[in-house]
Amino acid sequence: MQYFINVILPIPIEKLFTYRINEAAVNIIRPGMRVAVPFGKSKIYTALVHDIHTTDPSVYEAKDIDQILDDHPLVTRVQLKFWEWLSQYYMCSIGEVFRSAVPSALLLESETLIVRNEKAIVEENDLLDDEFMVFEALQHQSILRVQEISEILDKKNIIPVLNRLIQKNIVFLKEEVFEQYKPKLIRYVQLGKDYRTEESLEALLNSLTRAPKQSQVVLSLFQLQAQTKKPVKVKELEKVSNSSSAVVKALLDKGILEEHFIRTDRVVYEGAQENEQLKSLNEYQQDALTRIKASFQEDKVTLLHGVTSSGKTEVYVKLIEEYINKGQQALYLLPEIALTTQLIARLQAYFGEKVAVYHSKYNVQERVEVWNNVLQDKAKAQIVIGARSALFLPFKDLGLVIVDEEHESSFKQYDPAPRYHARDAAIVLGNLHGSNILLGSATPSIESLYNVKIGKYGYAKIERRYGNVLMPDMELVDIKEQSRKKRMKGHFSERLMEEIAETLDNGEQVILFQNRRGFAPILECTTCGHAPQCPNCDVSLTYHRHRKQLRCHYCSYHIALQTSCQACGSTTLDTKGFGTEQVEQELQTLFPKANVGRMDLDTTRGKHGYEKIISAFEQQEFDILVGTQMLTKGLDFRNVNLVGIMNADSLLNFPDYRAHERSFQLLTQVAGRAGRTKKRGKVIIQSYNPNHRILQQVTTNEYVEMFKEQLYEREQFNYPPANRIIKITFKHKDYNKLNEAAEWFAKSLKNVFDKNVLGPEYPPVARIRNQYIKNIILKIGDNRSLVKTKNSIKRIEKSFNAISYYRGVRVIYNVDHI
Ligand code: ADP
Ligand code: ZN
Ligand code: ZN
Repeated sequence: MQYFINVILPIPIEKLFTYRINEAAVNIIRPGMRVAVPFGKSKIYTALVHDIHTTDPSVYEAKDIDQILDDHPLVTRVQLKFWEWLSQYYMCSIGEVFRSAVPSALLLESETLIVRNEKAIVEENDLLDDEFMVFEALQHQSILRVQEISEILDKKNIIPVLNRLIQKNIVFLKEEVFEQYKPKLIRYVQLGKDYRTEESLEALLNSLTRAPKQSQVVLSLFQLQAQTKKPVKVKELEKVSNSSSAVVKALLDKGILEEHFIRTDRVVYEGAQENEQLKSLNEYQQDALTRIKASFQEDKVTLLHGVTSSGKTEVYVKLIEEYINKGQQALYLLPEIALTTQLIARLQAYFGEKVAVYHSKYNVQERVEVWNNVLQDKAKAQIVIGARSALFLPFKDLGLVIVDEEHESSFKQYDPAPRYHARDAAIVLGNLHGSNILLGSATPSIESLYNVKIGKYGYAKIERRYGNVLMPDMELVDIKEQSRKKRMKGHFSERLMEEIAETLDNGEQVILFQNRRGFAPILECTTCGHAPQCPNCDVSLTYHRHRKQLRCHYCSYHIALQTSCQACGSTTLDTKGFGTEQVEQELQTLFPKANVGRMDLDTTRGKHGYEKIISAFEQQEFDILVGTQMLTKGLDFRNVNLVGIMNADSLLNFPDYRAHERSFQLLTQVAGRAGRTKKRGKVIIQSYNPNHRILQQVTTNEYVEMFKEQLYEREQFNYPPANRIIKITFKHKDYNKLNEAAEWFAKSLKNVFDKNVLGPEYPPVARIRNQYIKNIILKIGDNRSLVKTKNSIKRIEKSFNAISYYRGVRVIYNVDHI
């Protein structure tokens, strides 16, 4: 009998690959374990075992696997099913899901190694200088990495040297797999075994009288051990005995001390243990909870629609408690930017160590740890709070899935594949586990509320803010009118300035929202009209005042600020539009005494950048915080009483069928940061078009009207939620080729789908990083099968790929594009 395994490789090819295993391996290998396998000429990949069988592949000779990498499955059967669904639904390969789902440290890397050929007879005089340097280095160390050689020779391109050395048979290349994850080890010391009795210790101390430092270390260690009865961390010992590592080393060398290493978690929770009592719910929260549970009884996905600051989080917490008491796991999903320290601290205060956090700012090592903590038989991580990638963790018994801020478009992954929507995928994952699923928002997506309307989802609502705080008082300010009357100071209307002044006088804080970073999006010559553009993308460069730079927001291109026009030499340059930096600067002139902070992509880089600003604002180190949409999500500031929207129009005018829904959500969410305690908050919305329906609806809190109107419009034009859409994007650096390719594809689609095909069209930014971009939108009515539609598309793609002229044009599917 011959044995084979089918494996998933982390590459964008839509099939499984078959490898041969021997009889011994059959008893060890199980689906979900990793194996290292050879692929292509010399590559080694980490593959995931999908299934084990005895069918020899007829079309190719199955290779042997290289090695087995796990002794337990790393990925569960439910996860494999989930991956299969993702790849089918979102039209990508299961390998792409694999690559994105597993922490990269567990996807071993194949790295090129340069190995000395032991058998080579080398005539050193025949070697060129650089060849000799590599050769010599290999005398000390028989294997070198490309990177190391590059350092030895102090140059980037070492391929020519390597080629020469290979030709001369002095070295050869080897592909080897490295495990990237290294558990963190902590160094501990204890007294050597000869010194553990009292007499021997006394004798030792006597012998050390002429080494007072060493004697101090021994004494300190003795005391520490007596207190804790545990080995002592080297760092701690050095601190307590006030000595250096050299002294400790001397004692270790003499065998007076022994050292050992203990593996510890990198992600340690350092708070108190589950000390805080859960808050008791008020009647509205209680009522919502009862409704949610009733709806769960019917196995329905349930939408919790609670206004901002209604206390949704406390409702989630109550539910979570019930499920973990039953021994099940709970997943609490949030958009990346809503995942704040504030919220995590709140959950940890209730649930202590049972809470694990998983998001993109975690490094690879930390991710592996959380992965393992979720996977263990008696999982340490019972509650996972995370951004969309937390969906991929190896849950054993997931009882509850919560998707908070479910309306957030950042739940959709744009790049790379799988281009999934985390809310929708969470529902599928929950169903695979038989979990209950709760979606929460103050401003639900049209999709979710639509599902409530057609009876698919259950519904619970909370219409009051916690503590009966009133919804903020919203005021629209017509800045067209104000400009005409010359009442504007910079971008500030009189009303906004008055309110800021009053709020500051009361010792309260202000949030100002402008959804654009930098100083100004365009720097323009007033003489000839020239505005510097990005050479790689079809956009103008944004002026960043602090850095004195012009930067592209689509690629990394930037140049130093120019003081005169590149086209005509004139020095009269002017800015158009404005960003957060400009708001910040104007505030300094208008309110010179106020401390102003800024929160946007430029100020929040780095692992804790975002947290630092939030906590500084919480500690009232700033009076005013200016920011982009980062400000909108889940922040709970006690002392903010005024929110100002600098310009609502840029949101409303965005060319997208969702722009109105989004503007409503964004404005309501930002406004929700005002007056979360006691006093009624104030919101000022500046606009050139204050009569816009959406602005009227935002200020009067007419969510239901907004929903009805938007739904009506969407139905008129066959957009979601009643219909589905697939966006197909084409990219290529050659403008003509791109156009022809997109036209060809669209024509083929139109043969099948007729009027349901829109485009191809250029997006607002038609070239990014030197790639031209065109989109086709395919609308799929609810009477059409999604599976059949995708199959038709794939057939068209096959013919497309057969045309050699179109080779190199990238085709990207985005199912349920939002
Ligand atoms: P939401 O998520 O709906 O915007 P939060 O859950 O952040 O609202 O609640 C708003 C504020 O009210 C928070 O400061 C929270 O601590 C407080 N709060 C909510 N529910 C309760 C409760 N049952 N008892 C005491 N305080 C509560
Ligand atoms: Zn000019
Ligand atoms: Zn660019």
